[in-house]
Amino acid sequence: MTTESAAAATRATVYGYPRQGQNRELKKAIEGYWKGRVTAGTLRATAADLRRRNWRQLSEAGIHEVPTGDFSYYDHVLDTTVMVGAVPARHRAAVEADALDGYFAMARGTQDVAPLEMTKWFDTNYHYLVPELGPDTVFTADPAKQVGELTEALALGLTARPVLVGPVTYLLLAKAAPGVAPGFDPLTLLDRLLPVYAEVLADLRAAGAAWVQLDEPALVQDRTRAELNAADRAYRALGALTDRPKLLVASYFDRLGDALPVLAGTPVDGLALDFTAAAAANLGDLAAAGGLPGRRLVAGVVDGRNIWGNDLEKSLSTLGTLLGLAERVDVAASCSLLHVPLDAAVERDIEPQILRWLAFARQKTGEIVTLAKALAQGTGAISAELAANRADLASRRGSPISHDTAVRDRATAVTEADTHRAQPYAERAAAQRAHLGLPLLPTTTIGSFPQTDELRAARAGLRAGRIDTAGYEERVRAEIQEVIAVQEKTGLDVLVHGEPERNDMVQYFAEQLTGYLATRHGWVQSYGTRYVRPPILAGDISRPEPMTVRWTTYAQSLTDRPVKGMLTGPVTMLAWSFVRDDQPLADTARQVALALRDEVRDLEAAGTSVIQVDEPALRETLPLRAADRTAYLAWATEAFRLSTGGVRPDTQIHTHMCYAEFGDIVRAIDDLDADVISLEAARSHMQVARELAAHGYPREAGPGVYDIHSPRVPGTEEIADLLRTGLRAIPAGRLWVNPDCGLKTRGVPETRASLENLVAAARAVRAEL
Ligand code: GLN
Ligand code: ZN
Repeated sequence: MTTESAAAATRATVYGYPRQGQNRELKKAIEGYWKGRVTAGTLRATAADLRRRNWRQLSEAGIHEVPTGDFSYYDHVLDTTVMVGAVPARHRAAVEADALDGYFAMARGTQDVAPLEMTKWFDTNYHYLVPELGPDTVFTADPAKQVGELTEALALGLTARPVLVGPVTYLLLAKAAPGVAPGFDPLTLLDRLLPVYAEVLADLRAAGAAWVQLDEPALVQDRTRAELNAADRAYRALGALTDRPKLLVASYFDRLGDALPVLAGTPVDGLALDFTAAAAANLGDLAAAGGLPGRRLVAGVVDGRNIWGNDLEKSLSTLGTLLGLAERVDVAASCSLLHVPLDAAVERDIEPQILRWLAFARQKTGEIVTLAKALAQGTGAISAELAANRADLASRRGSPISHDTAVRDRATAVTEADTHRAQPYAERAAAQRAHLGLPLLPTTTIGSFPQTDELRAARAGLRAGRIDTAGYEERVRAEIQEVIAVQEKTGLDVLVHGEPERNDMVQYFAEQLTGYLATRHGWVQSYGTRYVRPPILAGDISRPEPMTVRWTTYAQSLTDRPVKGMLTGPVTMLAWSFVRDDQPLADTARQVALALRDEVRDLEAAGTSVIQVDEPALRETLPLRAADRTAYLAWATEAFRLSTGGVRPDTQIHTHMCYAEFGDIVRAIDDLDADVISLEAARSHMQVARELAAHGYPREAGPGVYDIHSPRVPGTEEIADLLRTGLRAIPAGRLWVNPDCGLKTRGVPETRASLENLVAAARAVRAEL
């Protein structure tokens, strides 16, 4: 094989594109349909039009092979569940009555039937609907969506490649259906699932697909021998089919590792690898495996998860190495472009110079095409693009935004002592007990209170210019007064101000920190029709002035009980933003931590004795491979300690996390050295309390006793029972009483009733001590 033959065949492609449309037309159409304002026909037409526009946009930009089947009304894993006929029993009637309504019922639930569970798609901020399988699951092929979308693209005269969730990843992402006996492993269904994939592949081929992409991102996680064997079996079986398109197995988000030689040993026709997140590892592994002679390699060299412009020269150098390792090398983004906003060009509030550093989906498409052109025609063909790229990279590197000397000097000067509180926990606990004088089983909430109609109206009014800042802040103060009054009346021990001034727990701080950028249209799908606009950690981070102090002190001025200060921690600030790609995450985390440290100290100086620093994302951003976790947890916990380490011993630091799976980070939770942690526990009957106890967690903890994901008001006796269960794991001197999470999404009446029951339960159980 010669370089020329690989180069000549090079194609530009992507695995998926943002679904919503430039003006979020899809969201509007779907939500309109739910409300009965948009007919099914109109929704379908809107969706088909968006798909057509996306394909045209891709093809006009120079993408040779467009993806199909990546479109979704809600979620591509749910689409796969439909494709393989794995509709849960409780939804079957709805799906049979009306496929579209049944689909949305699986996604969102109905009055009577619970939806599928939703969880994070690997370490991204996209959420998928978890397949529910059991030993009785019968798979049947339903290729209509895949075949239909392929046919639409082919009708436009385009070369198209259907993209499917692969069978191994589908099963690895599934869970046992409710009622299935414990110990059931969905992977045991592989042999039943493969014939269904075979049928879909045959139908796609009949409809005109030359290639089909099977996404197997689950193979970039640590996998057991049995799981790798399953991948081997799956792709030997699918590869052996006679009536099939060519198969491209795609991996992304991390190195393919042990799965690489496994897949390379099967008769699949090509592999797609991520050369951003795991470039060096994948390159090394690929070379060690002897490359992919005679096969297609799709090289994900453009970062599909971040918004920074590509370093074209660096990508060309990677591609140059790869040319010698496969029959044909195609250029792509590292993963579906679903995870980035659509178009940077529409951002009007970002300085033109800075805008040139950014690449959203549309700009990334251009980068992919440019790189493919260089492979096909030589770098001379892209000399103008290379020159512009060099200039943009230099402008970013040299910008005072990227380099703030004061911030850097301060980060370098951080000492070991700065990352620890001066006294050990036991001494602090005694000082805090004396200082705060709280009862046993103290009651508190997690921070936010329900967003009232008045508040929403004021926020909309401010945006539309109907009211001014002073008018808006008056509303915020009124909300704080109300929230404080309610908490006093309810009898809570440690109060909060309710967070009415915050639109979002990350954005609120991002807007006030120097070095962060906000977008106006940078929407990214979180789940279904919910889109978020993550802020961009663009440069060195500093805090020009206090961010929360005036609201917390205002709340404190209204009551004699302690009001808890409320901040978002450094790890969560990174996890829910686009991060810098020009320095280690640890460095960015340290800068954010130092800004928060000043805020924590200012709160303390203003008389705040209890300060909560939320880190719900600590568990979420855990690296996919276990080997990378120790390093991550080291910098993550250090950043938290740096932000909270500067206070007096009698100032009590709280933290909060939502997730219920702690086994693998319980050590790290201890390393945070917070005085009190609150966690979600109501649905798992205090499971987390037992886990903390099993690991000898020595500090105070508030496992949630009120499930805030439901409008249901928990009864006093029910909460008291949970507390008694909690007391079997955590002694009375260390147990707090609080809801699972913030109350932002709840209604006012149910919240009041629930908190009254929570306080009554705490009093009842105190009396038993
Ligand atoms: N303090 C935040 C709130 O109550 C915490 C939210 C979260 O954990 N996601 O809303
Ligand atoms: Zn939470």
